[in-house]
Parts: sequence; C-alpha cells; structure tokens
Amino acid sequence: MSTTTFNVNILGCSSATQSSRHSQSGQVVNFRDKLFMVDCGEGTQGRFRRQGLKFSRLGHIFISHLHGDHFFGLPGLLSTMALHGIGGEVTVHAFEEGLRLLRDWMDFFNREPSFRINYAPVTPGACETVYEDAGLTVSTFPLYHRVPCTGYLFREKPSCRPLRGDMLEFHNVPVSERRAIKEGADFVRPDGIVVPNSALTHPAPAPRSYAYCSDTMFDTRVAEAVEGVTTLYHESTYGDEYLAMARERGHSTARQAAEIARAARAGKLVLGHYSKRYDADGEARLLAEAREVFPDTILADEGMVIKV
Ligand SMILES: [Zn+2]
Ligand SMILES: [Zn+2]
Repeated sequence: MSTTTFNVNILGCSSATQSSRHSQSGQVVNFRDKLFMVDCGEGTQGRFRRQGLKFSRLGHIFISHLHGDHFFGLPGLLSTMALHGIGGEVTVHAFEEGLRLLRDWMDFFNREPSFRINYAPVTPGACETVYEDAGLTVSTFPLYHRVPCTGYLFREKPSCRPLRGDMLEFHNVPVSERRAIKEGADFVRPDGIVVPNSALTHPAPAPRSYAYCSDTMFDTRVAEAVEGVTTLYHESTYGDEYLAMARERGHSTARQAAEIARAARAGKLVLGHYSKRYDADGEARLLAEAREVFPDTILADEGMVIKV
C-alpha cells in the first residue's frame, strides 16, 4: 500500500445552479501536498478555505469546459489570492476562449496580482499531457457534452521498489548499488553470482489514478479513456426517469455513470453534478440505481475527502 498523499477534496457537486444542499462544481486533488483544482464554480473559494486548504499550495487549475457552473468562481478565487499577497505562480488550463475572458477580467480588476498567472490553452477533443512532475502526470481526454468539454486524468508514476534491508545485508550490497536496485537492477556479487532484483526488493505499490468526468453524456469512449482507473468521478445529473433528457442535454444518469465505471473496470465510482431537483432521498435513489450496476459507488458531498 502506498502512503503518499493522493486525495480528492469535494468543494462542489451540484449541476447548473447552486442549491441549498450543494455548490457548483469544484474539486481539489491533493498529491503529495501539491494542490490541483479541477473546475471552479461559484462558492469554490469559500469551500476551499473551510476545508483548510492553502492558497500557497495551489499551483494549477484545470477547467473542464466553459459553462458558468464550472468557471464563474475562478476570477473571484484569483482575486482573493491576489489580496492575500500569494507569491509564485498559478497556471490556469482551459480552452482558449475561456483564457481570453479570464485574462480580460484579471487585467481589468487586478492589474498587478502578487503572483504570476500562466494561461495554458487546452486543445478541445485531444488526449494530451498538460502537467508532469517526478511523481504525477495530468492528461486530458474528450467528454461528450453540448459544448467542447475535457476530462482530466491524474496518474501517479510507478514508484521504486522498496529495498529489503535483511537481504541487502545478507549479500553485502554496497550503498552505491542501492539506487540501481531500487530501480529494478539485479546485483552481481564479487564471486559472479547474480542475485535477482526480486530477492532484494519488495514489489512496488500499484500506481493510483483519478479521473474527473464532468459534464458528459453516456459514451463508451469515456470508459476506454479511463480504463483501469483507481477512482472515477463521473457526473450523474439525473436518475433513470430522465434518461431521454440526459441525452438531450449532454448529461448522464447515475446508472450510466455506473456503466462507464464497470466498462472501465474502475476501482470505485464517485457520483456528482446532481440536478437541483434531487433532495437527500432523491440522491439516495441515484446511488441505489448506480449500485445495481457498480456496487462500489459513493455520493460526492461538499467537505468530503476521498482517498484515491
Ligand atoms: Zn455542469
Ligand atoms: Zn456543462
């Protein structure tokens, strides 16, 4: 089991409008204490602070598409960060038109922010890596909505194999060889005997991954794009009774989200982006419909921290 932090904080999980129960879409992926925001509906910055997250750790913001419920919180969030005098830089990943709007807004209201804003265009319909560091990649994949929309896939990189201290000692392995062994090398003893890597190390923990899918109609290409994902967030705007409306409006039902999770052989499914017509009982029905197809399903809720 890997112990590296890889969590998702749910900041908002309603669809088009805020309700008394939920804020509009917003999440933070916390990977080794680096924060990555995904979508930023109204109310996101308030939820961000209430969860004790730190602006100074937020380096990248990924926007799925240019509908207000995923975007309207962004100018406010960046303005607040400027008022707090946050330093460093923040990169906003979004479609070109959204970046243009945001830049105009920021130029008008915050002529000299305390931090640098990088505007990183995302290509509609593409599968591309938009972020990479030593431990993580973030890539895009297409979703199928009424307007161009992109999903984001966070993938932990494979880690090194933990060394077995007892076996290193037994074979008298010098310290200078240990790095190579962690990376998979065998050890050749001075007497010429080859000690295989598997005798010197434990298996590396399986890399974890998180996929964010909002908003999209049911499309099996989404399952192909997130094949084998550890944790899948998939919108579930409606229940079974609105199947036709879901397709018409470019959204999914909870059952369809579960079908994507099953087809992708995901580890677990998180539902969200609920229509405001659902109260607590309604959401419980969405959950029940999804669990008929994919039992390992939970409902997103503001304040929730999900371990990937
Ligand atoms: Zn939406
Ligand atoms: Zn939308």
